[in-house]
Parts: sequence; structure tokens; C-alpha cells
Amino acid sequence: MAISLHNIIPVLNADFQGIETDIHINNISIDSRSLQNNENTLFFAIVGPNNDAHIYIGDLISKGVKNFVVTYIPQRLKDKANFLIVENTLFALQKFASYYRNLFHFPVIGITGSNGKTIVKEWLNFLLSPDYNIIRSPKSYNSQVGVPLSVIGINEHHNFGIFEAGISTKGEMENLQKIIQPSIGILTNIGTAHDEGFADISEKIKEKLKLFTNVEVLILNKNKTIEAFIKSEIKTFTWSTNDKSADVFFQKKTFDDYSILNITNEEKCFKIQIPFTDEASLENSMHCILTMLYLKYDLDTIEHRVSQLFPVEMRLKVKKGINNCTLIDDSYSADFQSLKIALDFLENQKQHLKKTLILSDIYQSGLEDENLYARVSQLIISNKINRVICIGDIISKYKNKFLNAISYVSTNDFIDDFENLDFANETILIKGSRHFEFEKIVTLLEEKTHETVLEINLNAISHNLNYYKSKLNPETKIMVMVKAFGYGSGGFEIAKLLAHHKVDYLGVAFADEGIELRQAGIELPIMVLNPEMTSFPSIIQYNLEPEIYSIRGLKAFIKITEQKELTNYPIHIKINTGMNRLGFDDEIIPELISILQKNDSIQVKSILSHLAASDDLTHDIFTKKQISDFDIISSKITRELKIYPIRHISNTSAISNYPQAQFDMVRLGIGLYGVSNDINETEELENVGTLKSIISQIRTLDIGESVGYSRRFMVEKPTKTATIPIGYADGISRSWGNGVGYVLINEQKAPIIGSICMDMLMVDVTEINCFEGNEVVIFGKNPSVTTIAKAINTIPYEILTSISGRVKRVFYRE
Ligand SMILES: *Cc1c(COP(=O)(O)O)cnc(C)c1O
Repeated sequence: MAISLHNIIPVLNADFQGIETDIHINNISIDSRSLQNNENTLFFAIVGPNNDAHIYIGDLISKGVKNFVVTYIPQRLKDKANFLIVENTLFALQKFASYYRNLFHFPVIGITGSNGKTIVKEWLNFLLSPDYNIIRSPKSYNSQVGVPLSVIGINEHHNFGIFEAGISTKGEMENLQKIIQPSIGILTNIGTAHDEGFADISEKIKEKLKLFTNVEVLILNKNKTIEAFIKSEIKTFTWSTNDKSADVFFQKKTFDDYSILNITNEEKCFKIQIPFTDEASLENSMHCILTMLYLKYDLDTIEHRVSQLFPVEMRLKVKKGINNCTLIDDSYSADFQSLKIALDFLENQKQHLKKTLILSDIYQSGLEDENLYARVSQLIISNKINRVICIGDIISKYKNKFLNAISYVSTNDFIDDFENLDFANETILIKGSRHFEFEKIVTLLEEKTHETVLEINLNAISHNLNYYKSKLNPETKIMVMVKAFGYGSGGFEIAKLLAHHKVDYLGVAFADEGIELRQAGIELPIMVLNPEMTSFPSIIQYNLEPEIYSIRGLKAFIKITEQKELTNYPIHIKINTGMNRLGFDDEIIPELISILQKNDSIQVKSILSHLAASDDLTHDIFTKKQISDFDIISSKITRELKIYPIRHISNTSAISNYPQAQFDMVRLGIGLYGVSNDINETEELENVGTLKSIISQIRTLDIGESVGYSRRFMVEKPTKTATIPIGYADGISRSWGNGVGYVLINEQKAPIIGSICMDMLMVDVTEINCFEGNEVVIFGKNPSVTTIAKAINTIPYEILTSISGRVKRVFYRE
């Protein structure tokens, strides 16, 4: 891409205010953190419901970015950069993408539907790539933002496009149609589930079909309800497994680990073997087969390529590596677009100063090798990668283009040399095409633990934060509580995300937790709830801010700040209003005030109290009394000291139940992690943590046998059991055993039978089709921690924070 700013202004219908328009734009960005931003970048300041990228513009200008699409020029930045002022920056991005798309003329497949979009897209890419230079949506980039960003990736060498489109409400598809402009349409399916964004199913169908307004053909599963909405001028190419009037008729037979499809098309019959047995994969492969038939592929080619389809892994996963490394596992694809995304992700996640990239040959860039690797080298330099490990004979030839690069012709050569590479204390991005089998490298680099993982969805955390933000007055600040290792979900990774979201404060319980965050590079202000006096020196050393709750603590802290000759060191004053845990009682306030008056080594940054029952409206009167007492006492302090500290009392439940108690800041805790004490609110939140394990062993038991310690489960009918390697030492309470609780295997409930052991538990899988090695969900969306907490008479907080440190945390973005 090289388009002059001058030409972009009329496309966006923008009002230009700036320095010069004679600038070539070769990079579009909406991510303020991307190291790929430079002086030729055009940055679109997207405004979400609770997030406004205009706040990053100042930082970006100081990093050399010059061109911005905005709805207003932020204060004091006028004349500092080029501004294209528009009414709506998202629409502007879409307009630009649609303009850009019009510069190219080649076949484009547009895919939409409720499920399977990404898999069909990835499979078609695999099936068609030997014959075309394909541009496709990276990952699941199918939203109002994702689609324009995907299309902007087209370059002059591409000759085929595959893009997916996802919508959640009426009116969205028209925009996406204009950007994708598909010539071939695929409708994967339309779920019957009620979506909030649509009045009813027919509105949903009509909206989705808008993607196909101008296609030459629409490929879909034959379905009378849907066909009634398709305009007669649109040609369809349909398949079915029960309606012989479809253009292509499939009969399927499934075996242990593969299926055979008998296919009838235009009176010809043929057979294809598919390496899957589940319904969804079979449907997805049928859409692919129809596309190949439509594109006039011969049967041998179809059969050969379809038999090689593979499971699709779309997520970038962050894993703990050996020798204190952090791995970013993207070991299934290596195209230029997704490399850019992965490098941005690496920058956002990095926990170590040193960054290493392991990269295979790159396919399908549409570019000549020379040009391609020159661009890759540019990317690597701007992302400040310290070490590049090239694997593959093509990339090896260009290794001199990369600084500090080592190369291997094959993955096995790399593995042979592994011991000499000294991986330690670095973040490693592993990115390779499928056939390089980089999963072998991931296995080598991954820290060895047992097979239980707690997966943390970083997107869900952002969603939940934004949800609570939307409930606050715009000027209310947010402190996020990341105590107890982020409620069990991970300290640093979550803090880093919160820093990006510019929350105002972090809260931890003990100084050690704050020190860990500082050592990992977190610069946000951090309040320590329960600072022990012995930790005061390190609190100061690491620039942490203590909560002071007693005269004894206050005097001790003042003494240290005076010894160090500090002035105005920030502290937080905790008032007890009825929780009766920590805090100054009402009658000590005069003494507190007089000490504070006399000392300028410290400064009251905030005054806080804590509510005892904000989640339980039966204590409404008590809570309101706490709030008004806090107001009175804190006002007295501020009045007498003539200071203006931040005042705060609300935790998660109070944000919803007592909006009048926001004062200047709230302290968000459990809600961020996807749990609310209110059922309706829980529906608005996204699940963050999913605790997963696998089946170690399956056995069949006869009547009279027993399971586990003390023989607490007696077999009364022939029973198939599965053993799962997770137990009470991992944090699964024993009360959840003996028929009370269950796990999820293949989406079905498997009751826990017998007592939960220290490191294992057993479940009944008599009714479930499953095998050793299959995945098991201990908690997540279902069963939720709230469900478990209710059943065993505790609270979700305890379940989340009980998950032992030996359970590996894996962070991912969708
Ligand atoms: C833990 C904690 C919070 C957060 O509580 P949630 O109920 O998780 O929102 C707020 N304030 C203090 C003092 C806390 O200890």
C-alpha cells in the first residue's frame, strides 16, 4: 500500500487540519501499542462505548506518528500532527477499506454464518493455496473493525481473497458487504438460538444474506426457510444430507477417527475420506467441497486435498516456558498478515527485556521472496526483536537480512541443536507454517507440568472492565484489585492489560505482590491494602503506596519517610465504617488529623472505607449508613486538612447496587474476573478462566466394585469411569466430590464419583462417548465457579483463589 494522504482526505470526506498532505501512507493502525506505527502510519482513533483511542494520540506523536483520523483534536496537540477530522472514525476506517478494496479485481469469497466461518476460511485457504496467491482474514478478524483491517492487507500480488464477516445486530452487514464485495458467497449455517441483536430469526437471516447482494453464486446447505429470503436473481449452489433435490447430495459414514462421504453431483458419484467424525467438521468440509466443485477442480484433486484437512487452532497462546521464558505459541500459520498481528501481541505481552522470534518459511505473501523477506526484516527491526531463528531453506537464504539471526534448514536440525541455544529469561514467539511442525518446538520449550491448565481469556477481561466502566460516571476513577495473584488468574499479565486500558490504580494485599508487579515493569500506581511494618522500606523502594489504618502504622511510616528525607510520600487512609476489619474508628479521627497536620513527609492521596454487605440488599440500611458515615468522616478530614484526596468505598457489587457511592473512585475486584453476585449481571460478563484437564485413564467396572479411597462409591450397574489428574492439592474442594459435583466432557456432565484425591478425581462417563486424552472442563462457562460455590457452600472468590500455583496459567486472545 502506498497512498498519499492527499488522496485519502476526500475518500473520508474529512476536514484536514495539519502540516502537510504530501505523505505516503503505507500502514494503517488502530493499535497504539504497535511498534509497527511510524511516520507513514495513518492512525484511526477508534471510539468504543467505553474506550476512546484519542487518549493515546499524545504518546503516539512523541513516538513519531504523524497522521491521525480523529473526531476532534485533543487539547494542545493542534499543529503537532496531521489531523483528518471526521464524524465517526470507525465509519471512516470502513470507508477507507471499501475504497481500497475497489482498487483490486479478483475473485473474493465472503463467508458468514453462526458457526464455522473461521474454519471454513482456513480450510479453503489450505485447499486453494497451491493455485492462488490468497489474502484472507487473519485469525477471526470478522467484526466491524476486523474486516476493514483484513481487507487493507491486500497487495498487488494477490489474486484471490477469502474474508469472513460476523455481525451481532441489524444494520451491520451492509457495511461489511461494501468492504468485502464478495463474488462467491458461503453461508455456513444460521443458528436458531435467539440473539439479542435481532428481533427474530427472519430478521437475522435477512441481515446475514445482505453480504451476498452482488455474488455470482451463493453456496449453502439447502434449507427452505433460508431460501425463502434469497432473492431470485442470486444463483445458489446447495448441498444436503437429506434432501436429494440439492445440487450436491452427501451420505456420510463415520468410523473411529475418520468419515467417508458418498457424494452425488450432476449424476456422478464419488467418495471422499475426511479425517474427522464430528458433525460440525463434516459440515465445514462440505462447504469446502462445494466451493472446489464450483471452481471446477477435478475429483482427484478434491479428494486428495480434502483428505489432508486438519484441526484449526486460531488462538495465540501465552505459555510458561523453561528457564523462566514466556512462549507465544502461534505454531500453525506463517503468513505476513498474521506475523504482523503476532508481533504486536508479543509487544503487548512481553515480560522480559529480550525478545526472540522463531520463524519458518512464509508462504502466500503474494510477494517475490526477495521483497517479502525485506519486508519481514523491516517488521522485525521495528519490533526490536533481539534474536531471530529462521527455519526452512528459503528463509535461511535471506538470513543476512535479519540482525542476529541463526538459521536451520529443518525443524529437526533446530531440535538437534536445541541444547546449544540457551533459551532463558526471554519472550519467544513461535510462528511457523503447519508442515514445519513447530508444535514439536513448543513441546521442547514448554515448562513441564501436569496436563491441567487454567486458561485465561484476555479479551473477556477487557470486556468486563468496559462493562463496569460503562456503569460509572465518566470522571470516576478505577482501581482494579489484583490481589491474590489477580484472584488466581495471573498477576503480571492482567496488570499489563490494565495498564494499557489506563486504569488509575492497582490494589494488592501485600507488599510482595506489588514488588512482583514492579519487577515485571508495571508502572501504574499501586496501593497495598495490608502493608506489614517490616515491609515499609521495600514499599518505598518500589514506589508502592501503603494503606494506613492505625496510629501505630502511621507513626512508623512517618518515621521511615522522615529518615529518608522524603516529602509528600503518598499514603491512603482507611476508615472503619462497620466492616470492623482494618481502619481508623470515628473517635480516633481527631488524633489522626492532628498527626497528619504536623507532617509533610507524607501526603494523603486517598481516603477509603470498605463495605461489608454491598452484595446483599437485605442489609441495605446498614450499607447506606456505612456510605453516609464515610462521607461525613472523610469530609471532616478533608475540610480540616484542606486537602482534596480521592475518596472511595465501592467494591464490585457496590458499583451496581450503590451507584450513588462512587465518590471519586471505585475498587473493582471479582467482576473483572467475570463473576458477579447478581445473576442478571453475570450474563453481561464474559467468563475469564477455564480450568481444563484431560482423561488419564478409562476403565469399566462391574457391579460390586468400588471407586477410590474408603470405597465411597459402590458400583450398582456396569459403569465406565474416567480418571482426571486434578485433585484437592490443585484447589478442587473435596466437598465437590461424591456425587455433588461434575466435570464437562464433550459438553456432557460427568458426575464426580467417590472422594476427590489429592491429585486425582474419578468421574462417571458411562453415557459419554470419550477416550483417554480427551479434554475435560473442571470449571468455566459450565460449570461456573458460581455454580460450584453454591453447591459446596462457599463463595466464588474462594474457588478462584484456591487454584494452586502448580496449575499452569495459559493466557489467550480470541
Ligand atoms: C478485595 C477488595 C475489594 C474488591 O472486592 P470485590 O468484591 O472483589 O469487588 C475492594 N476493596 C477492598 C478493600 C478489598 O479488600
